[in-house]
Amino acid sequence: MRYPEKIENGISAKRKAQGLLFDSMLRQLRAEIMGLPDRRTGKNLTYSMEDIGPGAFSVFFTQSPSFLSFQKTMQMNTGKNNADTIFGIEKIPCDNHIRSILDEVCPSDLYSMFPYIVNAMDEAEYPDSFRIINDNILIALDGTQYFSSDKIHCDNCSVKNHKNGKKTYSHSAVTPVILKPGKNKVIPLDPEFITPQDGHQKQDCENAAAKRWLCQYGLQYKGLNGIILGDDLYSRQPLCEIILKEGFHFISVCKPDSHKTLYEWLADFDKMGAISTKEIRRQTGKRTETDTYRYFNHVPLRDSDDAIEVNWCEQTTTLADGAVIYQNSFVTDLEITEDNVIEIAKAGRARWKIENENNNVLKTKGYNLEHNFGHGKKHLSSTLLTLNLLSFAFHTVLEITDKKYRILREALPARKTFFDDLRALTRYICFENWNDLLNFMLRGLEIENIDSG
Ligand SMILES: [Zn+2]
Repeated sequence: MRYPEKIENGISAKRKAQGLLFDSMLRQLRAEIMGLPDRRTGKNLTYSMEDIGPGAFSVFFTQSPSFLSFQKTMQMNTGKNNADTIFGIEKIPCDNHIRSILDEVCPSDLYSMFPYIVNAMDEAEYPDSFRIINDNILIALDGTQYFSSDKIHCDNCSVKNHKNGKKTYSHSAVTPVILKPGKNKVIPLDPEFITPQDGHQKQDCENAAAKRWLCQYGLQYKGLNGIILGDDLYSRQPLCEIILKEGFHFISVCKPDSHKTLYEWLADFDKMGAISTKEIRRQTGKRTETDTYRYFNHVPLRDSDDAIEVNWCEQTTTLADGAVIYQNSFVTDLEITEDNVIEIAKAGRARWKIENENNNVLKTKGYNLEHNFGHGKKHLSSTLLTLNLLSFAFHTVLEITDKKYRILREALPARKTFFDDLRALTRYICFENWNDLLNFMLRGLEIENIDSG
């Protein structure tokens, strides 16, 4: 796998064992932020970029919009604060200052953190546990809207013009994630923002953003052996061609309405009895469900001389009385066999996890993706979203690779409880560092047998 040159040693096993993964990730984030162009002049220079970036990040990481103001109060009362000890922020910037500075920062300047995070997982040999179908990793692409307003807007808003003259401004992004059927964690990768120049209809925009993402990151993530998962939008020939050209495989939803030629071919082959079938009966509680898989290899994707050949499969789940409770069909470049048809359908179906585990978690479980943290005139909205995604990625990495963090998260009843506690503790107590905070929580919960340090 290729990483940007500045990502050197990754994270050594020793540092991981000492529970210092958080510190090394944060150090990397600071290094990224220090490398950002600083377009400030005159009196704006009171705070360093090193304080502004981690300042914004700390708010998302602690999921506490008031984190910085609490730490300012603590500093005034006690002479020390957690923004400094945990996040290394020497001088706490105010929210307005952070917003005005980050508005100038292009979100893509922060993207090299994402491969760094995948690298951290790689060292923990974690992506291997995501491997499926001949050692490949599933990468789901999906567009999500995270901002919409009739009034607030910036240079990078998408604009919808209504017949009555009103306008709706919005921001959306393709947010790719690594996932696996049956795993409740997803690993976010670099987002690609859907920007106005890409067109006016959402689908055109998402399509173009997905193409940009594939062309830009194909090489970077090639080592993962990725299979791109997408909805019906991703099973059109131009996108499939780019996916293949960039070295990925694909499994995408393929609806009859949008693939008329392909389904005409399939109907003909069906009449000839050429479609293979596999049936599996399962017991779910008291009821019996039957999964019927039908598949056929080498069928043209569209009606043109240069149509690429794809392999098609369909899963239909029925109850004993014949009622259909699930049906979906997929196309892929992978040869479908009796041995892998179930796995391929399962992978195609896992795409919904990007909505469930990623987009919904980001929107509803503390990250408040749709909350307007500040919009700015240029990049603020997208840069804040990127920092929010990075904090989600940090949490995921910690949950996977940091023993103390994982034990704490498992010991507490809900994600919310952990962050409620984090908010309250950091408001009242100054900890020496992140590790000290975790140790305090572990002791409080009377959890023993954690490695010292
Ligand atoms: Zn905007």
